[in-house]
Amino acid sequence: MHHDVVILGGGLAGLTLALQLRRRMPDLDVLVLERRTHPLPEAAHKVGESSVEIQAHHLSQVLGLKDYLERRQLKKFGFRFFWSDGAPDITRVTELGASTFLPTQSYQLDRGMLENDLAQMVQAAGVQHRDGALVRDFTLGRKGERHQVRYTHGGEEHEATADWLVDASGRAGLIKRRLDLAQPNDHTAHAVWFRIDRRIDVADWTQDTEWLARCNPPNRWLSTNHLVGAGYWVWLIPLASGSHSVGIVADPALHPPETLNSFDKAMDWLQVHQPQLHADLDAKRDGLQDFAFFKRFSYGCKKVWSGSDRWALTGEAGLFLDPFYSPGGDFIAISNSFVTEMVEGDRAQAPVGMLAPMYERIYFSLYEAMLPIYTGQYPLFHSAEVMPLKVLWDYTFYWGVMCQLFFQNRLVDVQAMARLQDDLAWSHRINVAVQDFLRAWGAADGGARPRRMLDQAKLAWFAEMNRGLADRLDQAAFDARLQANLQLLHQLAEQLMDRALRQHPGLPAEALRAVMAQRPAAPAAQNLLFPNLSPA
Ligand SMILES: Cc1cc2nc3c(=O)[nH]c(=O)nc-3n(C[C@H](O)[C@H](O)[C@H](O)COP(=O)(O)OP(=O)(O)OC[C@H]3O[C@@H](n4cnc5c(N)ncnc54)[C@H](O)[C@@H]3O)c2cc1C
Repeated sequence: MHHDVVILGGGLAGLTLALQLRRRMPDLDVLVLERRTHPLPEAAHKVGESSVEIQAHHLSQVLGLKDYLERRQLKKFGFRFFWSDGAPDITRVTELGASTFLPTQSYQLDRGMLENDLAQMVQAAGVQHRDGALVRDFTLGRKGERHQVRYTHGGEEHEATADWLVDASGRAGLIKRRLDLAQPNDHTAHAVWFRIDRRIDVADWTQDTEWLARCNPPNRWLSTNHLVGAGYWVWLIPLASGSHSVGIVADPALHPPETLNSFDKAMDWLQVHQPQLHADLDAKRDGLQDFAFFKRFSYGCKKVWSGSDRWALTGEAGLFLDPFYSPGGDFIAISNSFVTEMVEGDRAQAPVGMLAPMYERIYFSLYEAMLPIYTGQYPLFHSAEVMPLKVLWDYTFYWGVMCQLFFQNRLVDVQAMARLQDDLAWSHRINVAVQDFLRAWGAADGGARPRRMLDQAKLAWFAEMNRGLADRLDQAAFDARLQANLQLLHQLAEQLMDRALRQHPGLPAEALRAVMAQRPAAPAAQNLLFPNLSPA
């Protein structure tokens, strides 16, 4: 059987790619081979449950799944952070989050439900989806030759040929292994996670009515709650099936994997670091659904596609950063969009062999721009002074630059990207300089974590930035938006630096100042930081 595209692996990346391809090219012949048999278990299936704005936009707008998401999955109440390490009472520590929903929506995804539903959707869209189909071997065709794939299905051997072969096999990395494309990075964090078959609601941990009333609606459980401390964070993610996902992500230098790699050990660790969560989970032990861990989950890739040889990697088969801000689904959205462009271009006889390396450079530049946000930054998670400002910075960078490129469909526009090259390179440089500066500031911070709410919804410029993601911009408006956001990054960096230097005059600020000087900006007319920070 010959197909235009064969996708190896029908997880999130493979299924959403199949859907995107068929939406763009309704006559495209697409085969998805997934080794697991459907229906998949709900809840205890995979991690990758918290979506952020790029993935949410991809699912809801590019793939047209908004109604589905509203009906079957959960509306996420943004990110929320508590500096609650060792704290007996979560209401007494610093909370960072929005008191009310910000306008641009994202979702909590039960991966089992989602993949079951997506499998039905791709079939309804005309994709041939084979579950219980194990890919055993393949031969990559070169320079336009057909690829060959051998797989077992229903106890029989099958063979298929394809013009395009896409590896969406996740960490199995079928093409990556074959071509020796694995590339480690310097980010060494590890993670353990498990699911509990009922809700975990931080509101159940207190009777404090003032604290409970801080959020409207009072549904903190719908957030991706981050319980943070030095060198680690714990995630709490609600799932539409009724379960709750819990994960511990840590820097091995501060929290070695051996101290966490079983449910009992993770519980002992939580008893010390997050006692209220421990008490809640202890009462729900009978509801444990699974337990898993990954050492060193972050990695890069030497090459993610070839236009002339017509193969591509997408999702975790390519690269993965870190779950702290849930970028996994974003990178799936981005690589799937590039692959769709290449397949479509190839059919239209466009010079995809030349286009592919440009797309690849853009894709890698996003990975490289995001990596410094995580690498070496876990030690500063202890700081309820520096970390909220890092989150503010990281979000401004994400919404102000990355999201603009994706929401406005500029990433696949190589001319636009070439035009923006200098601006984007500067945004990368200032991000690296700010991350270095934050790391030094975090090391100097004493770790006070006063009771307060740092409310993102009340920070008008920040909420407006979130709202503006949905705007449709022509070229002039897009250029103006990007320039304004770069100026905002400059101003924010300036205010962060001023505050830090007032507290710790000896912090090394030369590198940051040098990057800021490359692109002068007038000081901001307003205070960009939270108004209720402690006096500097
Ligand atoms: C600790 C952790 C937490 C994370 N949290 C988040 C988060 O909150 N938000 C987020 O966006 N991302 C998160 N991610 C990333 C997210 O998990 C991934 O981006 C996503 O699951 C990758 O999807 P995928 O389709 O590439 O891979 P997978 O979902 O793993 O799909 C690969 C598929 O290929 C199939 N397969 C493999 N080998 C074969 C074969 N030989 N034949 C046939 N089929 C095969 C597998 O069965 C599987 O279904 C997290 C990652 C980690 C490590």
